[in-house]
Amino acid sequence: MTDFAATKAMFHLPEGVIYLDGNSLGPLPKAAAARVARTIEAEWGEMLITGWNKAGWMDLPARLGARVGRLIGAEPGTVVLGDTLSIKVYQALASALEMNPGRKVILSDTGNFPSDLYMADGLVRTLGNGYALKTVAPEEVEANIDETVAVTMITEVDYRTGRKHDMKRLTEKAHAVGALAVWDLAHSAGALPVDLAGCKADFAVGCSYKYLNAGPGGPAFIYVAPRHAEVARPALSGWLGHEAPFAFDLAYRPGRGIERMRVGTPPILQLAALEAAMDIWDLADMAEVRARSIALTERFIARVETACPSLTLASPRDPATRGSQVSFRHPEGYAIMQALIERGVIGDFRAPDILRFGVTPLYIGEAEVDGAAAILAEVMTNALWDQPQYKVRARVT
Ligand SMILES: *Cc1c(COP(=O)(O)O)cnc(C)c1O
Repeated sequence: MTDFAATKAMFHLPEGVIYLDGNSLGPLPKAAAARVARTIEAEWGEMLITGWNKAGWMDLPARLGARVGRLIGAEPGTVVLGDTLSIKVYQALASALEMNPGRKVILSDTGNFPSDLYMADGLVRTLGNGYALKTVAPEEVEANIDETVAVTMITEVDYRTGRKHDMKRLTEKAHAVGALAVWDLAHSAGALPVDLAGCKADFAVGCSYKYLNAGPGGPAFIYVAPRHAEVARPALSGWLGHEAPFAFDLAYRPGRGIERMRVGTPPILQLAALEAAMDIWDLADMAEVRARSIALTERFIARVETACPSLTLASPRDPATRGSQVSFRHPEGYAIMQALIERGVIGDFRAPDILRFGVTPLYIGEAEVDGAAAILAEVMTNALWDQPQYKVRARVT
């Protein structure tokens, strides 16, 4: 049984704050500061360059990949950390496209995170030669998976609404028409159980700084199905993805399996922070995290809908088709969120009108959900958001 009181005690949560934005940036694991300090002082400081061997820095991306892999149902040895999610999206897409010669279409949806679409657009421009990105409404994805599609590029959970695609079903459809399936797990990893192996996903990517709590700028992960591991050719063919980086050959030869998806020098300090976060994740059972997430999101929706009739639920009502966040729409969403943040409830705002609340059972429970709903009710009932200072847009929303 996951002991959620114990996991909560392992995070630093600032006094007087209810943090409902762990879907965007997870909070600080208490052990991370000491873990990073150890890497800086005892490893970097004392070992200098010998840390790559002595402290095991070179293996860290794959060692942590194995631990992240457990949360997303990946086979052993199929996940590696590195770079940012946007880069990993590009890498997975480029490899998948190359594995399906003769087809030119990447299929995605308008609910996807723009960076994924931008990266796909950049890739098809570079490839030229008739390659194209086709974007349809989320509800239209399944019907548009046909014999023209080379690769589907779908984010399982919509960052704005929390709407969840059926990964197994869409992957089966893609395979039935001869397409490959690339999944983005940015809002899935650590949010709900994922079964990459069971769904037969071809490639998957995701980030570590959201639900996984690796801190700002934490590196991304990439998964390649075992059946493709020795076939997929990395488009970003950096030296650390080479079969023998320290042979310094002039010709590129891809490394074994998932190692080939590495590009350059891994961010060791950030990986040290992720290691501290994974020590907490190792205590968690994803099915139990999911059950608690559903109970908490249901509770939050019920309370907000009762107390705040002017807010419209933007997330699916059926928890089975929802990730681990709750979103509401309101034309003054930005100002409402600023008023909430000033009162210690941190969620975020996504244009044009979405108030977003992440529900993360490792450190959020009934007390936080009830407290946040009560403060939101106060802000709405008394129009406390209707102040000029709440309407000035900051650079990051
Ligand atoms: C958060 C997020 C990103 C961000 O990409 P970075 O390169 O890490 O900044 C990309 N795609 C999706 C679907 C996301 O949710």
